[in-house]
Amino acid sequence: MLRKLLTQTSSRRLLTSGVPPLFSKSTISPFSSLSSSPEPPSSENSTVEQPGTTISVDRSALYNPPDHSHESTPDSELVKHLKSIIKFRGGPISVAEYMEEVLTNPKAGFYMNRDVFGAQGDFITSPEVSQMFGEMIGVWTVCLWEQMGRPERVNVVELGPGRGTLMADLLRGTSKFKNFTDSLHIHLVECSPALQKLQHQNLKCTDESSSEKKAISSLAGTPVHWHATLEEVPSGVPTIIIAHEFYDALPVHQFQKSSRGWCEKMVDVGEDSKFRFVLSPQPTPASLYLMKRCTWATPEEREKLEHVEISPKSMDLTREMAKRIGSDGGGALIIDYGMNAIISDSLQAIRKHKFANILDDPGSADLSAYVDFPSIKHSAEEASENISVHGPMTQSQFLGSLGINFRVDALLQNCNDEQAESLRAGYWQLVGDGEAPFWEGPDEQTPTGMGTRYLAMAIVNKNQGIPAPFQ
Ligand code: SAH
Repeated sequence: MLRKLLTQTSSRRLLTSGVPPLFSKSTISPFSSLSSSPEPPSSENSTVEQPGTTISVDRSALYNPPDHSHESTPDSELVKHLKSIIKFRGGPISVAEYMEEVLTNPKAGFYMNRDVFGAQGDFITSPEVSQMFGEMIGVWTVCLWEQMGRPERVNVVELGPGRGTLMADLLRGTSKFKNFTDSLHIHLVECSPALQKLQHQNLKCTDESSSEKKAISSLAGTPVHWHATLEEVPSGVPTIIIAHEFYDALPVHQFQKSSRGWCEKMVDVGEDSKFRFVLSPQPTPASLYLMKRCTWATPEEREKLEHVEISPKSMDLTREMAKRIGSDGGGALIIDYGMNAIISDSLQAIRKHKFANILDDPGSADLSAYVDFPSIKHSAEEASENISVHGPMTQSQFLGSLGINFRVDALLQNCNDEQAESLRAGYWQLVGDGEAPFWEGPDEQTPTGMGTRYLAMAIVNKNQGIPAPFQ
């Protein structure tokens, strides 16, 4: 079946995006006392344009403006808004609240008003690296649909579709499987009006009803609907959910061990009127409630913990997904960068492919955190007895077992030299070893590349058996 899918998958896009700028991840140093703010992440080993080279910015030709450091830049709307929350609340806000406002504030959140992806944007994702990524997710989706007994109607839900590239490649790639595409209703869960528009364009949609946010994608003649949350997607229909780089955008609380117990890292405004991190003087309700997450960490894990990051939104989302899959049938695929372990301190800001300070000019940089895969597994299993959880496995294992090697070979049969080079570069970027957006620097122990840094996990209705390629 897999082989058949891979050779029959249609290949009209063929051109992969050019080799994107790359960036590294560095750990933000934890603040140690009540009012210290974190060091900005080191930009060493940072952005890499060519394999193995470190970017250094040549400033020699830059105009050196006169020093206006005493003149502070006016606060943006989002900065004013955050400061007013802190002022009227009468104290600091949680890192989770800060993150949520920065990313999805309806007026000025990072995602809300523009295209943030690709070489011209702030960061690059796998679907933008190569068409093969969306095609392989298409293969996974068709396989699951087969295991579901080829239902006549299936809702395919994508959480946080970005530019819509993954879904466009999935639809293009599976368009020969008429029974499958005829069964599809696409539901895109997207908070950003600007990105919804882009998705509409990239899926080549014609409006059926713009007030109901309903359209038809001419890529496979499938209906497409937009929603702000998963709860809004109609239930009662077999469902396949895809979440690629969605969980890492969900807000995290950060906790730190202290002599007073597990206290919470918060965001405050200092006397200089700048944002700074502070530590709550005693455990907050969130730390008391959320540190329960640690009770199902292994004792060895618990002993080592000094910092912990926990995302209640991720757990709630997973519960909702598991309940749906448990009652309606189907499954979910989650791919993200993260670990099969509790996460300690991973929140990072990225602007224009470089690390930035988390508190600097909020709304102009992406904020993301590593995904805690065991907490997803645990939340899903807690929410429904009818589901089973598989993985995580690395992205390279996942794509490799689904047959990306056959796919790249098939595409290479039918392309020009430039396309071939782009396909090979994209392939290596996705499966690892090659140019990778997560280059950890010289530490040989640390896995590198999207292939190992990104993990794939599936949640499926038990009636579906074990999903490919987790058997
Ligand atoms: N999956 C895409 C984009 C990942 S970026 C890709 O791989 O290229 C995260 C996406 O999730 C963006 O589309 C962003 O607008 C959306 N998003 C982030 N937080 C959201 C939320 N709380 N609700 C709905 N969409 C959200």
